[in-house]
Amino acid sequence: AAAGLDHVRSPAAPRRAPAASSDTLSRAMPYAAMFAAFVVLVYFSHGNVFGPATIMTMVVFALTLLMMVRQTVVLRSDALIREQKAAQRVEERYASLIANASDVIMIVDPGGILRFVSPASERLLGLKPGEITGKPLADVWCGETDGRLHDFMAQIAAAPSGTAGPVELHFLHSSKRCVIECVGSNLTQDSAIEGYALNLRDISERKALEEQLRHLAFHDPLTLLANRSLLRDRAQHAIALAQRGNGLVAAMFLDLDHFKNVNDSRGHEVGDCLLQEVARRITAECRASDTVVRMGGDEFVVILQGVGANDQVLDTARRINRALDLPIKIAGHKMVTTASIGVSLFPRDGKDMGELLKHSDSAMYLAKETGRNKFQVFRTEIKDKINKRAALEAGLRAAMKLNQFDVYYQPIIELQTNRVAGLEALLRWIHPTRGVVAPGEFIEVAEDSGLIVVLGNMVLRQVMQDLQTWKTAGLPLVPISINISPVQLSQGDLANVVRKLLAASGFEADAIELELTERAMFVASNAMRGDSKCDMIAELRDSGLRIAIDDFGTGYSSLSYLKQLPVDSIKVDSSFVRDIGVDSNDEAIVRAIIAMTHSLKLNVIAEGVEREEQYRVLRDLECDEYQGFFFSPPLPAAEFEAKFLDT
Ligand code: C2E
Ligand code: CA
Ligand code: CA
Repeated sequence: AAAGLDHVRSPAAPRRAPAASSDTLSRAMPYAAMFAAFVVLVYFSHGNVFGPATIMTMVVFALTLLMMVRQTVVLRSDALIREQKAAQRVEERYASLIANASDVIMIVDPGGILRFVSPASERLLGLKPGEITGKPLADVWCGETDGRLHDFMAQIAAAPSGTAGPVELHFLHSSKRCVIECVGSNLTQDSAIEGYALNLRDISERKALEEQLRHLAFHDPLTLLANRSLLRDRAQHAIALAQRGNGLVAAMFLDLDHFKNVNDSRGHEVGDCLLQEVARRITAECRASDTVVRMGGDEFVVILQGVGANDQVLDTARRINRALDLPIKIAGHKMVTTASIGVSLFPRDGKDMGELLKHSDSAMYLAKETGRNKFQVFRTEIKDKINKRAALEAGLRAAMKLNQFDVYYQPIIELQTNRVAGLEALLRWIHPTRGVVAPGEFIEVAEDSGLIVVLGNMVLRQVMQDLQTWKTAGLPLVPISINISPVQLSQGDLANVVRKLLAASGFEADAIELELTERAMFVASNAMRGDSKCDMIAELRDSGLRIAIDDFGTGYSSLSYLKQLPVDSIKVDSSFVRDIGVDSNDEAIVRAIIAMTHSLKLNVIAEGVEREEQYRVLRDLECDEYQGFFFSPPLPAAEFEAKFLDT
């Protein structure tokens, strides 16, 4: 009864594993009881072996044994059925998992025939399991061309009871190219499978994303050109090729001329469009094997690999210069941009890409210095020049700290009366060892480094101070002309600085004349403030300042555009004045300029008058004023005061 109770309880209760010893005990309990009963019976009937009681005992014993056998058989078959049911449940569970899995599962027999294909195949590969089961996998697979599937199957076959992959295979599904990641297991030893199990997963989206990220990591998002990271990679490759004797490598460093002006005057959006167009034009002039890189800002690098001869590189540089020189139309504006290019060659100019780039950069600087819109091939002398430039910039910075700058004044004379009608303030660097250094030697470096803004403000302050001194001394005052660099207009806050200085000194605005070259005029009249274009010249002139065009005739001025400019005077460049009395052409030009300026009611000043002859001709041509060594060179304030301002 105790054993039975245990048994009755057990099927209802969840199948907890009973302790092995208690299980055998409960199972043996009925048999042990029976056996004990028989032993007692045999004991009581001893001596009478063939007595009825003994026979009866034997019969009952035999019957009991038979019943026990029957029970064992029933129990055994019961267990078998239970086991089968459990196995079936497991199988159903697996089948359901496979049917609903997003991955495709295939079983291929060692002969390559598909034995099983899971339903996901229809969604993933567009292949119905019913239609392809029984066919060779190689015939069903479309899209993999270079035998990678075949190799993969061979790999699985070679690894009994092992796995292979994952490998990436391509599959064409309704003309879309999918990337399938495939893992294979060799289950030929497994009697339930007897083949290769393949697990396929669509990783197209992941691959596309990876590809996008890789592209972003190696390309400039604005122009879609390669970036610095990719440059390093390509450059190494190009140099490795050249080292194996496959031609030369050229590095071209390209910098747009005056790009900053475009950004400042037309806004960054136009600047971006311009860079995109420039990128397109450069790429169009290069071969597919060349690498065009945007280094940032308006700097580009082109790596030409496998170049046969020097000339080929120069030809490409020339073509790029020419292509960029053509007008570009952006948002209705026609613009012209040019570039300065520096070229260096491997192995001649450097042992690695770092050196090559440094040298092409130096060559580019020289191209800029010697006129822009051209290319320059690296030479060793260039390195010295660049070093000198860097030293000059450092010298300028130091000189500013030590207050080594001074302002000199050159009188401007009225031709008809010989009276001092004005002065031009000219910057000088009083160098402790080199003496007085003229701006021609440092203005450009000061402009390129932005130092000109501070220097320019210093000149303005100094002029105001000198004016104040002369006024206090009761000397007659004339307007003072101050040279303004385009960099001051695009980077500095000129209008404000001038306004504050005037307010502090109490001088009328017309005591100051600002001299701007035509290029500076262009920058100022197209300057941007916030999002809108503002005309800085009109603004400066409205505040009462006088404006003069400096070096007239050397820029891109057309005489007709002069009408539209809000200016007071024109300074005829000294190059036209120089040959007056020698070259009749120059005389004709000066005559025309004077006539036109007068018809526009502007004041005209001739620069660089050195000889009496020039003076006479200019007076006969009715030029208003002149300036030059003929009358006086620029002088320090004290000297100027003593010589010309004596009352
Ligand atoms: P610029 O504005 O055309 O100034 C006239 C230049 O001609 C001055 O050179 C002056 O010394 C020189 N000059 C005057 N008379 C004669 C002459 O009879 N013959 C010859 N051959 N030259 C004469 P400087 O002072 O060396 O200045 C050179 C340029 O530097 C100036 O040309 C101007 O563009 C720039 N500059 C001078 N001072 C400043 C300044 O404070 N700020 C800025 N941004 N630029 C300045
Ligand atoms: Ca000037
Ligand atoms: Ca000038």
